[in-house]
Amino acid sequence: MIIKKTVSLKEKNSFKIGGTAKYYSEPSKENEIIYCLNWAKDKDLPVFIMGKGSNVLISDQGWDGLVVNLSINFCNIIWNNKCANVLGGSQLNLICNQAVKRGLTGLEELSGIPGSVGGAVLMNAGAFNTTISDSIKSVRFYDCSVSKIDEIENVDINFGYRKSIFQNSNKVILSARLELKQDLSAQELEKVRADIIRKRNIKQPLQYPNCGSVFKRPDGNYAGALIEKCGLKGFRIGDVEISQKHANFIINRGNGTANDVREIIVKVQKTVFNEYGIVLEPEVIFVGEFEEPLF
Ligand SMILES: Cc1cc2nc3c(=O)[nH]c(=O)nc-3n(C[C@H](O)[C@H](O)[C@H](O)COP(=O)(O)OP(=O)(O)OC[C@H]3O[C@@H](n4cnc5c(N)ncnc54)[C@H](O)[C@@H]3O)c2cc1C
Repeated sequence: MIIKKTVSLKEKNSFKIGGTAKYYSEPSKENEIIYCLNWAKDKDLPVFIMGKGSNVLISDQGWDGLVVNLSINFCNIIWNNKCANVLGGSQLNLICNQAVKRGLTGLEELSGIPGSVGGAVLMNAGAFNTTISDSIKSVRFYDCSVSKIDEIENVDINFGYRKSIFQNSNKVILSARLELKQDLSAQELEKVRADIIRKRNIKQPLQYPNCGSVFKRPDGNYAGALIEKCGLKGFRIGDVEISQKHANFIINRGNGTANDVREIIVKVQKTVFNEYGIVLEPEVIFVGEFEEPLF
């Protein structure tokens, strides 16, 4: 098991922002993951479990510990009729495509979400009328607090809007069992998939590095609409900008820094609160140290 020293995280996340990891590994098996976790524990180092890095803002100072990236080598998808057993690092979009081709319903509306299974389960990723929790039977995980592998059924995961018990939990998602339905043909599902991808391309600034929706949807409202009504579309600090195309996206025009993104996030929070009395909660996960406190 190779653990590298001083690895840049910039190219390993969808924002293309962030400093270096003090230590970095790409395990391929469960025992290698556990080895990495124990290795860091012995050295009293904090661990960050990384998937595809599509929902994170990594500090310019990087991560002063070990990054365990599961999305490179810890990937496998095994189908058994309507069910699939998928490893935590597997690409969600690939599973969606395979399900569509097999004529299995349940994941087609999640097409185009650029995350891994682990990140999607932890965030309960969702789009249109679907969340990944709709298709999850159970999740296998390693609990670092008790150094044990365990399995948990869907009902016990407390899935909610972008929420699961895995958040801030010291648990590493190893694999998930999915169960899909068989009520549409592969051709019909392909039409839905293609339409979803078309809508994403029209609405989202996908030509620039970004982290998806920056803020969660506040009750009875849309973050993007509130930000737009505050006149913040196009607001820019350095190379970081609130997208003209979709106000809940922040884009990196090239040399954006995490500090600039954080400053914009706080500016948006303050402006929306002053105008509408609504506190926008970030959906993006902050990794490492940041000077500017959130609102
Ligand atoms: C262009 C774009 C569009 C997007 N559209 C959507 C959308 O429609 N809906 C939506 O919900 N999200 C969307 N996202 C956000 C993102 O893709 C999802 O949140 C995704 O599920 C994150 O997965 P990831 O593997 O990239 O996680 P990361 O960004 O790598 O990590 C996110 C969090 O999950 C944790 N994590 C990752 N893997 C594991 C694991 N195996 N065990 C324990 N913890 C783990 C990390 O520690 C971190 O806390 C979008 C992002 C982009 C860039």
